[in-house]
Amino acid sequence: MLKGTILITGAASGIGKACAERMAEEGWAVVVADVALPAAEALVRDLTDRGLTAMAVRMDVSDEDEVEAGFDRMTERFGSCDMVMSNAGVQIVHPFEDYPFADWKKMMAIHADGAFLVSRAAYRRMKASGKGGRIVFTGSVQSFVGSKLKEPYNFAKHGVAGLAKAIAREGAEHRIYTYTICPSFVRTPLVDKQLPEQAASLGITEEQVIRDVMLRDTVDGQFTTVEDVANTLVFLSQDQGALTGQSIRLTHGWAMM
Ligand code: NAD
Repeated sequence: MLKGTILITGAASGIGKACAERMAEEGWAVVVADVALPAAEALVRDLTDRGLTAMAVRMDVSDEDEVEAGFDRMTERFGSCDMVMSNAGVQIVHPFEDYPFADWKKMMAIHADGAFLVSRAAYRRMKASGKGGRIVFTGSVQSFVGSKLKEPYNFAKHGVAGLAKAIAREGAEHRIYTYTICPSFVRTPLVDKQLPEQAASLGITEEQVIRDVMLRDTVDGQFTTVEDVANTLVFLSQDQGALTGQSIRLTHGWAMM
C-alpha cells in the first residue's frame, strides 16, 4: 500500500535524487522530474528494479507547458498529487559588476519562474482533489544571508521562502501546507562545479573556498548532507500542519534564528 504520491523536480542528481530514493524507500510513488531525462530514467530503472514505485518525466521547470504536462502524467499514472518538492536549481557565479543580464534571466527562469510554475501546478491539483497536500521548496541558507558572487541566487532563494509563506495563508483552508528546507552547503555536482569558479573569481585555492567561504560561518566546519535533507522531507511528509509556512534551517549553526 503506497503512502502517497510525490513529484520532485531536479530529481536526477544531488539533493533531489537522494530525496527521490528515500521517499520511494519510504513507500511513496515518486515522479522523478528533470530536464535531464536520461539520468531521470536511469534512476527510475534503479528504483523499479528494487521493487519501488517511480516514473520519470522530462520537465524544464521554466516551461509552463512542460510543467503542466508532467503533473498531468503524474495524476494519470498515480491518481493524485499529494506532495511536491520544488527543488531544481543551478548556480551561476560572477562578480556583481560583471554579472551578465542573460545569466540573471536564466537564474530567474529556473529558480523563480520554476518555483512558481511547479507550486501552482501542484496547488491546483491538491485543491481540486479535496485532499490537500504538501508543497516543499528547496531554499538555502542563502534565503537568509547574502554571499559574494551570488546576487541572483540570493534574490531567488529569499523569494522562495516568501512564496511558501504566501501559499501557506491561501492554502490553509484547502489543507495545503508549505515548507522551505534551507540547507547550507551540500557536496553535490552543483557545489563541485562552483569550487573552481569561486576560486578563480576570489583569487584563492579550492581548499580555501571550502574552508573560508563555504563552511566559514558554520559552528563546526561541516557540510550538510543529502541525507539530512531527505530525513527532513520524510518528517514533513507526515502532515506537519503546525509548521506550515516555515523555513527549516539545516545549516550547522549558520544563520541561526
Ligand atoms: P545538482 O546540480 O546536483 O542537481 C540539480 C538538478 O536540477 C539536476 O539534475 C539538473 O538537471 C536539474 N535542473 C537544472 N535545471 C533544470 C530545469 N530548468 N528544469 C528541471 N530540472 C533542472 O544540484 P543540488 O545541489 O542537488 O541542488 C538542488 C537544489 O538545492 C537547488 O535548488 C539548489 O539551489 C539547492 N541547494 C543546494 C545546496 C548545495 O550546497 N548543493 C545548498 C542549498 C540549496
